[in-house]
Amino acid sequence: MLKLSRSAIEQYLNCKRCFVLVYKHKVRLKTLPFTLNTAVDNLCKNEFDYYREKQEPHPLFIEHNIDAVPFKHPSMDTWRNNFQGVSYIDENLGLKFYGAVDDVWVKPDGELILSDVKSTSKNIFDWEDTWNKYEYPKGYRRQLEMYQWLFRKNGFKVSDKAYLVYYNGLKNEPMFNQVLKFELHLVELKCNDEWVDETLVEAKKMLESDEYPQGSKNCETCQYLKKRWDVNN
Ligand code: SF4
Repeated sequence: MLKLSRSAIEQYLNCKRCFVLVYKHKVRLKTLPFTLNTAVDNLCKNEFDYYREKQEPHPLFIEHNIDAVPFKHPSMDTWRNNFQGVSYIDENLGLKFYGAVDDVWVKPDGELILSDVKSTSKNIFDWEDTWNKYEYPKGYRRQLEMYQWLFRKNGFKVSDKAYLVYYNGLKNEPMFNQVLKFELHLVELKCNDEWVDETLVEAKKMLESDEYPQGSKNCETCQYLKKRWDVNN
């Protein structure tokens, strides 16, 4: 049984060569963990867990007219665990697909809403501008679409709307005093997970084939390696 995470599928979509290198040949670039972002994720989790325990809406839901509360479910901690997550086994395909969510909210009619926590530090937080200028926000939407797909496959009713709980670190405060302040933004995304089935089949096929795809032309790492190679040859 092949196991693929949602980040493996994101890698497949971003660069098929790196996907094959990492998931077939176990060759990967080491990256440093984003520990400050992880700290924000954890603080946010604690805060939402407070409202989950009380089964009350987070103030953000009231502010944005979202009729929901944080979902209380025995599998919540498994779904949030990076090594477990929410998973689905496709026996016919011979594939286990999984991903760890940040949070799940539930509407009064039982429909689930998927959310993910992001943090950044920009002088002006302008989501529209970021969406139009860069590719990575589309990756955030794909991330939520993969979670939606997984929850649907696990028998839940899931809203097409998903949210990014976005913390913007304020870097121009006059005094630090060991306190990092944030603005909080809620970004609504209209999602569509229809692409997931087909992409899982394609990704698995690629790992089973002898294909060694081209790298992405926009990738700075490969451009750097190519230039280094050119210096010596
Ligand atoms: S272009 Fe090269 S380094 Fe960049 S993601 Fe693809 S294989 Fe990896």
